[in-house]
Formats: sequence, C-alpha cells, structure tokens
Amino acid sequence: MKKFYIKKYHKNEKKKIFVTGALGFIGVHWCKKLLENGHEVYGLDIKSVNLELKKYKKFHYFKYSVFNTKIVKKLIIKTDVTCHFAGIASPKEYLINTSKVIDLTVLPSLKIINYCKKFNKKLLFTSTSEIYGKSEKIPFKEEDDRMLGSTSTKRWCYSTAKALVEHAIFAKLKETNSSFVIFRLFNVYGPLLKGRVVDNFIEKALTNKKILIFGKGNQTRCFLYVDDCMDIFYQVLQKNVKGKILNIGNNKETSIETLAKKIVKLTKSKSKILVQSVEKNSKMKKEGYEDIRRRVPSLRLIKKTVKYKPKISIEEGLKKFIKSVQK
Ligand code: UDP
Repeated sequence: MKKFYIKKYHKNEKKKIFVTGALGFIGVHWCKKLLENGHEVYGLDIKSVNLELKKYKKFHYFKYSVFNTKIVKKLIIKTDVTCHFAGIASPKEYLINTSKVIDLTVLPSLKIINYCKKFNKKLLFTSTSEIYGKSEKIPFKEEDDRMLGSTSTKRWCYSTAKALVEHAIFAKLKETNSSFVIFRLFNVYGPLLKGRVVDNFIEKALTNKKILIFGKGNQTRCFLYVDDCMDIFYQVLQKNVKGKILNIGNNKETSIETLAKKIVKLTKSKSKILVQSVEKNSKMKKEGYEDIRRRVPSLRLIKKTVKYKPKISIEEGLKKFIKSVQK
C-alpha cells in the first residue's frame, strides 16, 4: 500500500492549502490572508466565486458542495493542510434548520477526518465557543466541563454536533501522525459576517429600523475583530502547532445593550433600542431558543502558543465593519 508522509516545512515555505467554506465569513478572510502571504489556496464552496479572491493567481476555486466526497478527497490529497471551515454558525439557523445544521456540521467532517488520517494530512478545524454552552464557570478553559440544556431545546444542536466532531478528531487523529488544531471561536466579527448580533444591529441601525434586544440586554459577549483572528490562525499555521484545542477570542466583555448603543452612536442612527417583551422571549424559548448569559474565553493557552496581541478595539472594529456594509 502507498504510504503518505507529512512533509516537514520550513517556517517561510509556501504551502498548498485546502479551505472548505472558502466563501463563508471566516473562509474569505482566511483565504485572503494565505494568498497575501504567497500560499497556494484551493477553495471549496457552493457560492459564486468572490471577485476579490479571483484576482489572486494562486487561488483555485472549486464550486462544489462539501458533501461531494470525491472532490473533497482529491483536494485533501493534493494539498498539505486542510482547513475545514464550512459550517452554519447562526443561532437562528439552529432553530429553523436544525437538521441541516447537524448534517452539515457532522457528516462532511467525519469524512474529512478519515481522509486526513488516511493520507496523513494536517487538519485545522473551526469549532465554537458554543461548545461550553451555558456554563457559568467564567472564563472558559479549553479543558472545562460543558453545560448544555435538553436535546429538546434546539439551540444546543450546534454545540453537540461540533463536540461530536471534536471527539472524532481526538479519536481518529490523536493516535496517528496526522496533526490537527481545533479553534474554538468566540464571537468573531467583521465584514461579511451574517446571521449574528453585530451584523443584525448594524443593518438595523443603517436603515433606522428598531433594534430588538432579546432578554434584558445585560447578557455579554467578548467580540474579536476578524483581522486579529486571522493573525492568530496564521501564527498557529506558521508555528506548526499540533494536537491542540485553542480558544480564539478576546476577554473584554460587552453587554448586548452597550453593543446596541455603540452601533447607534457610530452610525448616527435614528433607530430605537427596544427590549423584547417577556411574551416574545418566552415564545422564542418555546421555539427552542435559550440564551447564554456570559461567554468569556480563558486566554491562557493561546497566549502560551502564539504572540497574542489583538490590535483592534471594539469601536475601531465596528467602524470598519459599518464602513464595509455602507459600501
Ligand atoms: N441578540 C439580541 N438581538 C438580536 C440578535 C441577538 O439581543 O437581534 C443577542 C442574543 O440573544 C445573544 C447575543 O445577542 O445574547 C449574541 O447573539 P448572536 O446571535 O450573535 O449569537 P451567540 O453569541 O449567542 O452565539
């Protein structure tokens, strides 16, 4: 049988990198980062090609579904590193497209893990801070317990599906030479984000429509601007980090009410900020929504692994994002 070996790379050597979900929010930013640094990128997605990426000679686009096993296998074999970033990270989708979220999160991932094992290829996988669920042990350390609600509450489908994939990565790749890194992303935001609180509030503010806060508005998130996220990913790739789960985030908490106020101020919007009625909140709950009160990453491990220096403040990041939406 033919044997596959992981090639040893020099720090500055250019690699061939396969990215699934290449035209998704994280995918586009990652492909750009790689291309700007001279790597050869093989992007797979179902969308029409992104004009900005098309400009790069070293960008090869494959307009196929991540469920297309034949093409996925071919691209894993052809490249040095597989970045499996295809996914659906929007709480609204967890409720209305539960089955699709589960299938897309789990099924292609299991195939990809098996191929990475078989052909001895490195895998970078975007998991999620949703993994920790509604745990109240703040900040969340990578090895901490998970705290989820009932399986009859749809919200938790994404967390559970990503956790299954993380288990599969550990089970199948840990015992082989194939190396992997699992990124748990904490509310990364910036241009192209869709289906999350930041893009939703910006869109409402720019059209002077009312901004609706779920719950009381004192729930918090830690927002990380996408360029800072890409810097961390790139350092992880360059340093050839292996066999780790890493929280990727910022530990500065912002309440959702404060976020809404900042966005209204920065856009000079006439939008009213309203708190959703108790009735509406309980209706959402019946439909399978449950909120997470606080979500804060422990940065201990990421600080040990790379030079961790997010450069972009929330105000700066929001300004950049708003500008990109206005364009
Ligand atoms: N949220 C809100 N109004 C909206 C959308 C979201 O108040 O129109 C809140 C939501 O309840 C949560 C936070 O904003 O507390 C972040 O929501 P997001 O959809 O970005 O995803 P999450 O961080 O919960 O995964």
